[in-house]
Amino acid sequence: MEIEKIVQNQREFFKTQQTRSLAFRKMYLEKLKNLIISNEDTLYEAIHKDFGKSKFDTFTTEISFILNDIDYYLKNLKSLAKPKKVSTNLVNQLGNSKIYSDPLGCILVIGAWNYPYQLSLSPIIAAIAAGNCCIVKPSEIAENTMKVMCKIINENFPSEYLYAYEGGIDETTELLTIKFDKIFFTGSTKVGKIVYKAAAEHLTPVVLELGGKSPAIVTKEAHLETAAKRIVWGKFLNAGQTCVAPDYLLIEESVQEQFLEMLRKYIKEFQYTPDADQYTRIINTRNFQRLIKLIDNEKVYFGGHYDEEKLYIEPTIMTQIDWEDSVMEEEIFGPILPVISFKNFNMMINIVAGHEKPLAAYLFTHNSEEKEIFTRKLSFGGGCINDCVMHLSNDNLPFGGVGNSGIGNYHGKYGFETFSHQKSILEKTTWGEPNIKYPPYSEKKLSW
Ligand code: NAD
Repeated sequence: MEIEKIVQNQREFFKTQQTRSLAFRKMYLEKLKNLIISNEDTLYEAIHKDFGKSKFDTFTTEISFILNDIDYYLKNLKSLAKPKKVSTNLVNQLGNSKIYSDPLGCILVIGAWNYPYQLSLSPIIAAIAAGNCCIVKPSEIAENTMKVMCKIINENFPSEYLYAYEGGIDETTELLTIKFDKIFFTGSTKVGKIVYKAAAEHLTPVVLELGGKSPAIVTKEAHLETAAKRIVWGKFLNAGQTCVAPDYLLIEESVQEQFLEMLRKYIKEFQYTPDADQYTRIINTRNFQRLIKLIDNEKVYFGGHYDEEKLYIEPTIMTQIDWEDSVMEEEIFGPILPVISFKNFNMMINIVAGHEKPLAAYLFTHNSEEKEIFTRKLSFGGGCINDCVMHLSNDNLPFGGVGNSGIGNYHGKYGFETFSHQKSILEKTTWGEPNIKYPPYSEKKLSW
């Protein structure tokens, strides 16, 4: 069936009001949960074929994440969907005011490849919870995971409710000509702009979950050992192909040498070797070629080796980096960590603030003034103090970018709100109203 027809069928189905029922939403959330559990091995296999991601990493960063999302909505759906009573101002007495979370209708989700299950399924879970119909277009770059997701969804869900569309740029371009009630896009800033422009044609609201160069800042007042361990984990998880990975490191000059040694120690301890199960491969040759061009052998402090056949790039640290170096131009999205040292915390913050707003930022310190400056002066999507990446695992925190790193957010109740319209209803009594608003007007009424 043509995709335009499927969207039209979803519109018709939405009009039947069935998706508004909480029991209906719960039934399909349960169904998706059971499908993920019963297909777990197939899901592991597909992602391993795509880029060598281990079962452990896939469970912790994808499967458990999605299951947790479903459980969150199953548990909280009633309270999320309940109309919220708010106070009513004097002029509207006697009355009461409520906000209803109204489903939007038909949602388009466009996923990225780097956490293929999480980035395609997590938004549709929130969209279903909020009572919508949904089309999902996973990324064709992770081909095996795309195929397995499409198969599972299309064999088990009615297409007029939830449909997964296989395809790449051409298919996405076609999808973007169709009118949706919301588009939820995860991917690059470049493609985000294409999506935004296409959405404007139909005045469709968008969520753009994009990327950017997210700094990790380590000062001399940090617990250096913990900072090194957490940065090595956050940077080289998924071989650096994580939207919120620390893109580059800013280290206070007086502790640089000591800290670099600690980074080296943890990279070795974590055993990110060419055949290691715990180290993911680069997704394809195009990205591999892009990444190795960023490695400047003269600046390599650690690593720098690679193997094209295995699409393996060793965790690489580069020092003596200038802001003008090519590695500092665009989001790296791979296992290369450029290091820039600083002497003055305030000056360094001003330089970071002069760049595009990143998706994340991380500060490692015990100094409360530094924490305050970091939190107040820098604009970024979200982040951590004394950790990295982990903020996105707390579903009580909204997850999304700002400026070039995105528009809108999701996770937990924020995901529910993202896929709902906040409909305001003021209900009045038909008695007890002061006559003041009705003509004829008089000086006496004005002075009331
Ligand atoms: P991408 O922008 O190349 O692709 C994303 C999606 O857009 C894919 O489904 C693809 O089919 C589609 N697409 C690609 N080119 C298109 C075009 N010309 N017209 C229409 N559609 C097109 O991104 P990617 O390589 O899959 O992901 C990497 C980027 O995503 C990085 O910048 C990363 O930071 C960002 N990202 C952000 C988040 C987040 O949650 N904010 C999560 C993961 C990745």
